[in-house]
Amino acid sequence: MMNDNFCQCCGMPMGDTDEPYGTNLDGSKSRDYCKYCFDKGEFSFKGTMEEMVEICIPHVLKNNSDMSEESARQMMLEWFPTLKRWK
Ligand SMILES: [Zn+2]
Repeated sequence: MMNDNFCQCCGMPMGDTDEPYGTNLDGSKSRDYCKYCFDKGEFSFKGTMEEMVEICIPHVLKNNSDMSEESARQMMLEWFPTLKRWK
């Protein structure tokens, strides 16, 4: 899976515009993290990777109606450790 267009913290797809990206301390756009995870150079979410997975499960299920909760969890537990935030 390509990681370039996903938030490197929560795995949210980012698309091609600047809009979903978070901001660095100097106000420039972060290239790695979404605005929900990263604001003014700080991570909004301070929990563990496992907690982030649990938060993301309902969103993944909403976008993938044929996926079970368990397979969504499994997918993210394998994928998130490859993202920059959780490496
Ligand atoms: Zn994010």
